[in-house]
Amino acid sequence: MMAKAVAIGRGVLQDTTDGGEKMVVWKDFVGKVLDAAEKCPRTAALIHTLSTGEEQQDDLVVPEMALFRQEPEDLNLTDGTNMVREGTQEVLDVDRILKVLDVNCLTEDAPAADVLGNNGIVNCGVGLWILPSFINHSCHPNARRTHVGDHAIVHASRDIKAGEEITFPYFDVLVPVSKRREASRAWGFECKCDRCRFESEDCTLKQEILKSENDLVNGGDMGALVVRLEEKMRKSMAKERRKAFLRASFWSAYSAVYDSDKLVRKWGRRVPSEALVAESIADAVGGNENVLRAMLRGSKDANGCGNWLEVEDKVVRIGRATYGKVVKRHAMRALFRLTLDANNNINL
Ligand SMILES: [Zn+2]
Repeated sequence: MMAKAVAIGRGVLQDTTDGGEKMVVWKDFVGKVLDAAEKCPRTAALIHTLSTGEEQQDDLVVPEMALFRQEPEDLNLTDGTNMVREGTQEVLDVDRILKVLDVNCLTEDAPAADVLGNNGIVNCGVGLWILPSFINHSCHPNARRTHVGDHAIVHASRDIKAGEEITFPYFDVLVPVSKRREASRAWGFECKCDRCRFESEDCTLKQEILKSENDLVNGGDMGALVVRLEEKMRKSMAKERRKAFLRASFWSAYSAVYDSDKLVRKWGRRVPSEALVAESIADAVGGNENVLRAMLRGSKDANGCGNWLEVEDKVVRIGRATYGKVVKRHAMRALFRLTLDANNNINL
C-alpha cells in the first residue's frame, strides 16, 4: 500500500527520563498540516477521522474506505460531501490538530533504540499519513513501512493470513510482556494481542516467564536463562509460534549469549543456533533489523556447512520482510555477498 503525506517536516526524537522516546515536532510542520487542512476540506475531514488519543480504546471507529479514495471527483459524491462539510468546522481547531499529530505522526524510521545518537537525540523526518495512521499496534505485527519522498509504503513483514488485520509495531516488541505493557500504556492503550494474552495467561509457562523476566532484570549468566527457557518450552511441547513469541520476548538474553564467545562455548548446543532463533522470530513477529543482523551473523556459522544457497535464501527473505519487496531479490543477494566478502568476521 502506498500513501501520500498530508505534510512532512523535520522532527527530533529525544530520550525521556523513563527511557521512552519523545517526539518533538517542529512548528513549521504543524503549520504545514494546518495549511493543508485549510486549503482542502477533504484533507480536513480526513484529519478529523484520526484519533486524538482521548477516545476510549473500544470507541474508535473505522471510517468508510470511500473516504480515502484519491480521486477528486469523490468530493461530488453526496455521502462524501456531507462527511467533509460536517467535519470541517471542528477539524480547523488547532488544539485538536495538535492532539491528532501527537498520536498519529510517523517518523521516517521506527524509533528503535539504535537510531538514537549518543546524546539521546536524533533528527528525523516526520509526517502525517492518514491511512497508515489507522493501522493498529500488535506485538506480533505483520507490516512495516518504508518512506520514499513524501510517500509511505506499507509492506508485509511476514506472511499474512487472509482476513488478518494489518498491524505495525508501535514500539520495540523484542522485549518481555511487562515492558510491552508499560510501552502500550504510555501510548494510551492496553495491548490485547494474541502474544500478550498468551504471555500473561498461559498456565504452564507463566511461572517460567515471570522467573525469566526477573533474571533478565537481575543480570547474570544469560545462557542459563536461555537454556532453562528452551527446556521448559520443549517439555511443555509449546507450538513453534509460541516458542518464537518467547524467544522474541527474551531476545536480549539470547543476543547476550551470541555476543559472547565465552557463553557460546560454555553452553554449546544447549543454546539453539542464532540463525534458527532469528528465523523463528522473523516468521512469528516479522522481519526487522535485529533479526536480520542475527540471521547474517548466524549465517557465518552455516557458511562452511554446504547449505549455502538455503542460508542465502533465508537472509534474503528476512531482508525483504524488513525493507519490503521494493528491494529486489537480486539486490538483496548482492548486498549479502558483499557483506560476507567484506568481512568474514561479520561484525555489523
Ligand atoms: Zn501485545
